[in-house]
Amino acid sequence: MINFEYIRASTPKSAIDALTKDSAAQCIAGGTNLVDLMKKGVATPQKLIDITNLSLKEIKKDGDKLVIGALALNSEVAENELVLKEQPLLSLALKAGASQQIRNMATVGGNMLQRTRCAYFYNTDMPCNKREPCSGCGALNGFNRMHAIFGASDKCIAVHPSDMCIALVALNATVLVSGPEGDRRIPFQNFHRLPGDTPQKDNTLERGELIIAVEIPGNQLQHHVHYLKVRDRTSYAFALVSVAAALQMQGDIINDVRLAMGGVAHKPWRLTEAESFLKGKNTSEANFQEAAKLAMADAKGYGQNNFKLKLAPNSIVETLKTATGKA
Ligand code: SF4
Repeated sequence: MINFEYIRASTPKSAIDALTKDSAAQCIAGGTNLVDLMKKGVATPQKLIDITNLSLKEIKKDGDKLVIGALALNSEVAENELVLKEQPLLSLALKAGASQQIRNMATVGGNMLQRTRCAYFYNTDMPCNKREPCSGCGALNGFNRMHAIFGASDKCIAVHPSDMCIALVALNATVLVSGPEGDRRIPFQNFHRLPGDTPQKDNTLERGELIIAVEIPGNQLQHHVHYLKVRDRTSYAFALVSVAAALQMQGDIINDVRLAMGGVAHKPWRLTEAESFLKGKNTSEANFQEAAKLAMADAKGYGQNNFKLKLAPNSIVETLKTATGKA
């Protein structure tokens, strides 16, 4: 690990000023990903700005919206009464992530900013366009069992590792950020990005911007929710494929539905065509199969991850059946 300067920010403004002034500075909160990256020499910040003392931990209502501070801990959010009552999908996704010990340390903002777990990204002896632009992609023709089947590029086929973010994109969340140019609201589906020619950029934050909170609009999606995470072991493993589903039903008819997948793309992957198809339909297996087929239209395997082309649609159908009580 390299030597670095360590400072503690006392206000969001002081953190933003420090971030803006120094391009080699980085914020740290729970440190559950960044410390690993620093130990392995993947991240080499010259200055760490500790933001754990900032007052950004509150979980509160604002009208019908739920506002979750960027420094709220994953374990606290998962067990929070408001979250359990109003956005149970978020609680399910959080509880599927990492381990209890890590959830006790990890923050909402940090969860959003965690980096891919592609093995080549963590191995500084191997080529990786995300770690070192223009060095190549070891996974493209290498070990890519965990990698993307949607939205990849010839520069990077990594996946976004979060569970929480899969629920947040399904729930139409908004990211509230503050920076040198003032405050900004970013729709959650626009926060993470696809790799394209610049896989080194995971998200659309500008230099100096700090995540302040995540806002979830009110909805009627409390009664038919499920988060399915398919992984190699039942705890402390990243998703091969995950599916978040939340539905509003009237009898057997689907009035509203939100669907998103994890472990399949460089960003949380919303299944908008499947959602449009399902609205107004009944909960027959045939409809769920058709929705899964629509969701998979642009999927592409890269060799070792071809099994996801079957696993993903099967997981979508299974999740919908469980969420609607048809499993
Ligand atoms: Fe790096 Fe992305 Fe290729 Fe993995 S998939 S080696 S993160 S460029």
